[in-house]
Amino acid sequence: MKANPQSYLNIDRIEFIVTYQCPGSCRHCQNGIFTSRGDAAPCVDSKKAAEAVEKLSRLFGIASVMTFGGEPLLYPEAVCAIHQKAADCGIKTRQLITSGFFSSDRMAIRRVAAMLADAGINSLLISVDAFHQETIPLEPVKWFGAAVKEAGIPGACFYPCWLVDKSHRNPYNNRTKEILGALREVGLPFEDTTVSLTGNAARYLAAYFNSPAEDLSEPCDEPCDEPRNAGSISIAPNGDMMLCGFVIGNCYTEDIVDIMRRYDPYQSPYLSALMNSGPAGLRDCAERNGILADTALCRTRCDVCHAVASKLPCLF
Ligand code: SF4
Repeated sequence: MKANPQSYLNIDRIEFIVTYQCPGSCRHCQNGIFTSRGDAAPCVDSKKAAEAVEKLSRLFGIASVMTFGGEPLLYPEAVCAIHQKAADCGIKTRQLITSGFFSSDRMAIRRVAAMLADAGINSLLISVDAFHQETIPLEPVKWFGAAVKEAGIPGACFYPCWLVDKSHRNPYNNRTKEILGALREVGLPFEDTTVSLTGNAARYLAAYFNSPAEDLSEPCDEPCDEPRNAGSISIAPNGDMMLCGFVIGNCYTEDIVDIMRRYDPYQSPYLSALMNSGPAGLRDCAERNGILADTALCRTRCDVCHAVASKLPCLF
């Protein structure tokens, strides 16, 4: 359901970057080159975030709410407030992505797992692989996995990220297999994902990919037709509301209904440039306005787009 018939928004998913803080420092991290915007809010405001879920679910048919970071479980109360509200609003998928490392105290870990179960989380992905375990100790993650299983959280799994693909032979995938072997006794299932060549991965892991850099003058295409038909909105710790990395308003200081109603991608020179001439056009438009983004290592259209968007002020 759209906010109004003329709207370019078709939001069915809300993503909360609960915090940019993280005990890890992964060389495949997608958020690695992005910086927090505006005020350096350490964590999303629980009350405002829950309000945002409620208001957006009145405007749109929201099917899923996801919390991630940084490490979201550094702030478990905020995570639970968001998912509890999502459950109250009847939102079907309530997902958390975590490294599973936020404490080394086994009792505290069990307490947080019980809180997550009570808050109604029904999809929980625990990232474990060679990249995470370069800086994140495995034992507390194992304890967390066991606590999640004990708490009976549905849809919980370990979520390894493979380099290139699961069958590719490289030292990272070999190490990931060893880590998964050590986690098998926990009894959670595994769900695979692969490294996206963006953020830190473009910087540190590009040598493993043969694909040529994309043509940046091509317009955005699947899955990213965002400016004209945005399907997902992200909310940052400081309340910024973002469509595909572009800030369109702030839900701490403005009414969400107003932010949604005023959104028109054709009124923004940056989004117009993006729609007309792809990420290269966006980058040129930003440069004409004195905004320089470091895109030298970007390999994909999305990466360029995000690098430029991260430098832009609110568009409306
Ligand atoms: S744990 Fe997640 S957010 Fe933290 S550095 Fe690793 S990939 Fe990035």
